[in-house]
Amino acid sequence: MAVLDQLTSQQAIDLENKYGAHNYHPLPVVLSRGEGVYVWDVEGKKYYDFLSAYSAVNQGHCHPKIVGAMTNQAQTLTLTSRAFYNDMLGKFEKYATETFHYDKLLPMNTGAEAVETALKLCRKWAYEVKGIDENEAEIVVCENNFHGRTTTIISFSNDPVARKNFGPYTNGFIKIEYDNLEALEDTLKANSNVAGFLVEPIQGEAGVYVPSDGYLAKAKALCEKYNVLFIADEVQTGIGRTGRLLATCGNCNCAEKHCSGTPEVKADILILGKALSGGAYPVSAVLANDNIMNVIKPGNHGSTFGGNPIAAAVGIAALEVIKDEELADNAQKLGELFRAELSKFIETTTVVSGIRGKGLLNAILINDTEESETAWNICMRLRDNGLLAKPTHGNIIRFAPPLVMNEEQLLDCVSIIIKTLKEFE
Ligand SMILES: *Cc1c(COP(=O)(O)O)cnc(C)c1O
Repeated sequence: MAVLDQLTSQQAIDLENKYGAHNYHPLPVVLSRGEGVYVWDVEGKKYYDFLSAYSAVNQGHCHPKIVGAMTNQAQTLTLTSRAFYNDMLGKFEKYATETFHYDKLLPMNTGAEAVETALKLCRKWAYEVKGIDENEAEIVVCENNFHGRTTTIISFSNDPVARKNFGPYTNGFIKIEYDNLEALEDTLKANSNVAGFLVEPIQGEAGVYVPSDGYLAKAKALCEKYNVLFIADEVQTGIGRTGRLLATCGNCNCAEKHCSGTPEVKADILILGKALSGGAYPVSAVLANDNIMNVIKPGNHGSTFGGNPIAAAVGIAALEVIKDEELADNAQKLGELFRAELSKFIETTTVVSGIRGKGLLNAILINDTEESETAWNICMRLRDNGLLAKPTHGNIIRFAPPLVMNEEQLLDCVSIIIKTLKEFE
């Protein structure tokens, strides 16, 4: 079969199964086109995308402004490596640091790379600024975290599927319960070698766990008290998804207007990825102020593709779209409507036991065991009914549509979801 022949869904699935490593278990749907909140399969069936590539496509599929910036840059200059300067990276660094209020940005490509970068930066700061003895630094992380797939990152995961037989693991991490300030303070008190606290503002992969009100601010205050860096992994929660530019933002609406610079929590190290490119290209970044970032010197860290001109052009366009189209505000408004509409239904059904989330990062809890097939079967039926979502864990379904959705589309999706859930009563 020629490369350019149009495949049927089954042919495409067979090819991946035969020639690709089996490191994912995709829902059986083969997509070939996307625009805004919609995707189409190879047979031409149209779906609402309710996953948004794990919140990478916040700006909607193939946003013309992002695609325009990308194709324009692709025809001009794609890669110089950091052996030389390029005329786009500085612009991106200026724009992103002004948007998020940090002195400096370190560009990488994937989320996991940005997390690795943040860990290295934190350790180096611990030795060179805080004064911890060499090789003694510890970083506190949370149970049920998801920060990516590298050897170091899975070393502090407690997901057996992600960890088993990938050892030996990297040392230097202490795991505590998420949303537990007492555990954090006990750990900081007992341990003078703690360099940082790495946390997701909402645990996305774990099943959209939203911590108690004030948890992040209080955790940040504890970190300050013990001279420990607060590292926010906003790879999934950032860039408008939770109704704010960042999930750690307060009510200053900085995505829409110019931020007053008074976030609820200002992380010492901020990790971004996914929607930093609107899903067009792998772009990630670590942001910090000079007192931290300046420990990194030439040769300490790098990436051939990190900060390449396409990534820089795409990153600027992706952030501009979030601001110009007031997508954080839209996520806030539609998220409230979504939870309100589904909550009304949940009171009347035995299939779903609850809904939680913030902005347009939400999850419903299926009233069945983690091992059951119910959530998967519901996602299959949602697919048949024109909406794509996937379970995060056995019995939790995440709902995270692109933020460019409008109210009419959202209500249409709510009726598809309710109709589908009723089929399981
Ligand atoms: C997706 C994700 C990552 C990893 O990003 P990749 O681009 O897949 O490497 C890290 N942290 C969080 C919170 C994520 O959701």
